Amino acid sequence: MNTGKNNLVRTLESVDFLKMDRRTFLKAVGAVGATAFLGTYKTEIVSALKFAETKIIWLHGAECTGCSESVLNGGNPDIVQAISKLNVNLAYHETLLAQQGIFVDGKLANTSELNSEILIDELIEEGNYILVVEGAIANGPDGSGRYCVIGNRTFKEIFAKAAKHANAILAVGTCAAYGGINCADSAVAKVTDYRGVAFTKEDSSKGMLQELNLKKPVINIPGCPAHPDWILLTVGAVILGKIRIPDDLDAVLDLYGRPKVFFPTDHTVHENCPRRGFYDRGEFDEQIGGDKCLWKLGCKAPYSHADCAIRRWNGSVSMCTQAGSPCIACVEPGFPDAARPLYVEAEDKGVLLGANIDTLSKVAVGAATVAAGVHAIRRMRGE
Ligand code: SF4
Ligand code: SF4
Repeated sequence: MNTGKNNLVRTLESVDFLKMDRRTFLKAVGAVGATAFLGTYKTEIVSALKFAETKIIWLHGAECTGCSESVLNGGNPDIVQAISKLNVNLAYHETLLAQQGIFVDGKLANTSELNSEILIDELIEEGNYILVVEGAIANGPDGSGRYCVIGNRTFKEIFAKAAKHANAILAVGTCAAYGGINCADSAVAKVTDYRGVAFTKEDSSKGMLQELNLKKPVINIPGCPAHPDWILLTVGAVILGKIRIPDDLDAVLDLYGRPKVFFPTDHTVHENCPRRGFYDRGEFDEQIGGDKCLWKLGCKAPYSHADCAIRRWNGSVSMCTQAGSPCIACVEPGFPDAARPLYVEAEDKGVLLGANIDTLSKVAVGAATVAAGVHAIRRMRGE
């Protein structure tokens, strides 16, 4: 954690967060990580939530479980500490459930303690839960959803039932938010017809909720994977009533349903990149493994609206460009097609503002800064 963030956490320690207005609270939450937030406010959170328990049902569709991995790898706090501090009842999560199946130890399992298909139905029927969806939802072939089947039911059917009874939905990861890699252009994309929860790519009329004719408040937390802080802090803000659903959603979410506090409309990863000085001086790596700007290696950070370069990953230790990988704009609704080809320079093969990037690089700081502004406002829409 950097010194600025340490100072902020120290300042926040002297503040009663329960007295913060929503705006200040969200700013504070946006600035600190989940560990600092939960650690700083531990006592207040426990007393605020003494009698309240929030039930979460976490479903997995077409995905790699990377977002669950991301949360589980958030070691401090780990998932158990986080949910106990927030008084969450993580009632259903397929990769974290105790032994479950139709047969357990060779015997037929027909109780919800041992059979997850019975458990999920019981939990949904009880109602009063937040639904977390990880993964895209297959609509194909021909609207049947049979390209993603869990047990003997389509994920589309399970999602429809769970969404109908949910108080709110968090679409975690780019697959659930926008379809992600499941929706990448391919020979089979139209047949499999994967959908995000409330969007498919940039299109809010193609989300699975619209397909099912369901209206539910949705918060998108994209990323491939999503950052543990983005998930835990959003869940924390919802549970503590600092994001009131649905009243506050218009104010706190951007055009694509993302919390602006983590995915700022007017800020890109590029702006705080540790390699930014090289960009401004027009010094670019031509091969992976160097320490200069990665623009010529296909970095899409100037299009990517997220706080990765401020928050950083793996306990605030590093992030993609710092570790030497060009940003692939994994948080944007058009990902991955809008970012492809991933490791090839963007902007019409090096032509930017009518000038070749090599010419621009010689003009140094001023022109490059203007260029950065142009990238930032064009966003990732395949323009
Ligand atoms: S283009 Fe990529 S590597 Fe270069 S400064 Fe911007 S974010 Fe960093
Ligand atoms: S730096 Fe870019 S690719 Fe890496 S996590 Fe952030 S948005 Fe995704």
